[in-house]
Amino acid sequence: ERTIGPGVVSRIVGDVYRLCLPDDSGTLADYIPELAAVQPDSFALCLATADGRVYGTGDLDASFTIQSISKPFTYALALADRGTEFVDARIDVEPSGEAFNEISLDPVTERPRNPMINAGAITAASLITGADAAERFERVRRCYSRFAGRELRMNEAVYASEARTGFRNRAIGYMLRSFGIIDSDPDEAVDRYFRQCSLDVTCHDLALMAATLANNGRNPVTGERALSTALTERVLSVMTTCGMYNAAGDWVTSVGLPAKSGVGGGIVAVLPGQIGLAVYSPRLDAHGNSVRGVAACRELSRRLELHFLHVT
Ligand code: GLU
Repeated sequence: ERTIGPGVVSRIVGDVYRLCLPDDSGTLADYIPELAAVQPDSFALCLATADGRVYGTGDLDASFTIQSISKPFTYALALADRGTEFVDARIDVEPSGEAFNEISLDPVTERPRNPMINAGAITAASLITGADAAERFERVRRCYSRFAGRELRMNEAVYASEARTGFRNRAIGYMLRSFGIIDSDPDEAVDRYFRQCSLDVTCHDLALMAATLANNGRNPVTGERALSTALTERVLSVMTTCGMYNAAGDWVTSVGLPAKSGVGGGIVAVLPGQIGLAVYSPRLDAHGNSVRGVAACRELSRRLELHFLHVT
């Protein structure tokens, strides 16, 4: 465990860490053995400002797979590659109220309801441009790395397990192909989705990725642009309504920040213009969100007055 950053923010981060630490409720994701094999007590909190100051405590350097937190970033790259109009014709921006892995399209629009459910995420993965499959994934990896400000790597064991067991995601890919939402090889799109979910990150990385979104798409530490300002606004909008599986309404009410969680145990949240927040704790609630992660974000939002509708 280590602590970084000075002053009052650091003290609040430390207080919230200690407050949430004793809660060992929830269960590890176990749909593949690698996720069930992580250290269940790991816990880290990290906050990075839009001008590049970083505060954090706990297992800041423990690595875990990004899983569904990848979805907004691949959506961002798809928007940058193809333009908003092209992407909008294939992926809607409406909250679904369905399970993230539901094998469904909106019956009226015949599109995935949003890019944060698997159907929308696999569609976004299909839209990444590049000369061949290897280059298309490499562009995804480099894009995430620009957000993090460090070269991210794929966890080969997790990827192998995702690919071995991901029949439901393949079913979604084939459904998308049959409706013409994907007009390329659906196996390649699903494989890219498995790979992007298997990128290893730390809580520190996720805080920087969130801070890059908070800083209108420019990484506040490296100064590198990862996404245009206009597309950053679009990505944050979708995170606001669709980022927390089926707990999005409760999340907006109690935390009030655009966010995304993943079954690896990470959560990122963004206060536009100001703060990127990340939590890692792998025990999950019934929605698939990190138990201590949700509690810590609530508490930090309350103590630091981060709710985007906060009125003083
Ligand atoms: N690889 C997982 C899947 O789709 C990611 C799940 C998640 O983080 O929600 O199916």
